[in-house]
Formats: sequence, structure tokens, C-alpha cells
Amino acid sequence: MDCVFCKIAAGEIPCKKVYEDDRILAFCDLEPQAPVHILLIPKEHIASAAEITPENSAVVAHIYEVAAQLAKENKLEGGFRIVCNAGADGGQSVPHLHFHLLGGRSMKWPPG
Ligand code: C5P
Repeated sequence: MDCVFCKIAAGEIPCKKVYEDDRILAFCDLEPQAPVHILLIPKEHIASAAEITPENSAVVAHIYEVAAQLAKENKLEGGFRIVCNAGADGGQSVPHLHFHLLGGRSMKWPPG
């Protein structure tokens, strides 16, 4: 499958890895939007949040557990944001489910 995040998960494209286990991978975003900007992805190809089902949703809980761990490791005691863009109107540019962990600066709302 011609999916950039599947290739990163398979080690075919390099990344700055910060966490990996059998189900998920976390790596630094190439174009960071905050002092801490980590992407967390399932290794299984799920196209977007619109494709989450009872059969594949357990990995999402696991991603949130690891995101909390990474927030602690990165000393984001003041808070952080987890973002999942879905579909064209949601601003998703890579069609493989991913969660942005953003921190290290004060976030604004609404995100625009
Ligand atoms: O939510 P969205 O799909 O727009 O996010 C994709 C993110 O993946 C972007 O922040 C982009 O910088 C990042 N990216 C990356 N490495 C790639 C391709 C995209 O970090 N090879």
C-alpha cells in the first residue's frame, strides 16, 4: 500500500522515533507546530477516525495511554493537546489514522 505512515511503521522511511511497541509507533512531526509535536500512529492501516470500529478501537485507547506517558516524559505538566484531524474538512493530509501530541506552549481555541 502506498501509505507514507505504513512505510514509516515498517521502517522503510526513517523517522525520529520516540516510542514503539507491537501495535503503535510515535515519532516527531517533520514540521513541528509546538516545542513538543509527536505523532502517534497505529501500525495497522486505519485510514482515519471515520474508520474506527468496535473491532479496531482498542488501539486508540492504547495510543492515549502512551500519549499520557510521553506527555509526562516531556514534562508537559502545564497541559497539552491531542488532535486527530479526520477527512478533508478536518484538515487531514495523511490518510492513515494519527494523533498529534502538542505541547510546550499555550494553545488557543478554536483551532481554526
Ligand atoms: O493531521 P494531518 O494529516 O494534517 O497531519 C499530518 C502530519 O504528518 C503533519 O503534521 C506533517 O508534518 C506530518 N508528516 C510527518 N512526516 C511525514 C509526512 C507528514 O511528520 N513523512
